Amino acid sequence: MQTENGTEKRICYRCLVRDFDEGALMESIRDYVSRIGADVKASDEEYERRLKLCSECDRLLSGTCTVCGCYVEMRAAAKNNSCPAVKPKW
Ligand code: SF4
Repeated sequence: MQTENGTEKRICYRCLVRDFDEGALMESIRDYVSRIGADVKASDEEYERRLKLCSECDRLLSGTCTVCGCYVEMRAAAKNNSCPAVKPKW
């Protein structure tokens, strides 16, 4: 992957979140979502529906679901995943 100035940008899949800057973390999440196979991935419409529900949920904290600890943008991307709340919102 190339940066704007043409240098190679590397993403570490085994790094802890504390080792990421925010931009790199978001890029890593986008990259993860983009690599999910079409047979596993939620549709774009379903993904956006889920994220809207998460964004309105009081269990969301800094992109993380405090029920399960997942980054919701990753959890919501797989069609067979569900909201982990006792009363699931999606
Ligand atoms: S996954 Fe469910 S509980 Fe977690 S933030 Fe989203 S809507 Fe809320």
